Amino acid sequence: MPWRLATEFTFDSAHTIVGYDGPCGRLHGHTYRVRLELTSDRLRPSAHVKRHIMVADFKTLKWAKKDVDAGGLDHAYLNDLPELGDDTTAEVIAAYIHRHTMARVRADLPGGDDGADLKLRVTLWETPDSSCEYWE
Ligand SMILES: [Zn+2]
Repeated sequence: MPWRLATEFTFDSAHTIVGYDGPCGRLHGHTYRVRLELTSDRLRPSAHVKRHIMVADFKTLKWAKKDVDAGGLDHAYLNDLPELGDDTTAEVIAAYIHRHTMARVRADLPGGDDGADLKLRVTLWETPDSSCEYWE
């Protein structure tokens, strides 16, 4: 994997881990920090440039930083997202970000490119000293 693209950003959201016997079971919020690392065997065009000079567009990777009303996760009540529901642990949110980031990256690929060489690692910090990694 000769190229590794990395980007970090934060979003602020509220959640409740329904059924958790303790403070996480009450409504509260976090400034989540996300690190995305996307590796690739080759360079590609993007939605904004037609030449083969990118792994992916940083704009595409940072979708979750946008306001929830614009399709991101900022200022969301995470339990309102149907795919998360009551299970808004860092583990489940990291997998959610992985799934939705790969879907957006794949949507930018040119026809006939399955993106099979693209591998994404998501690190999600719920607090400055507690994080979860998810990759496939
Ligand atoms: Zn929490």
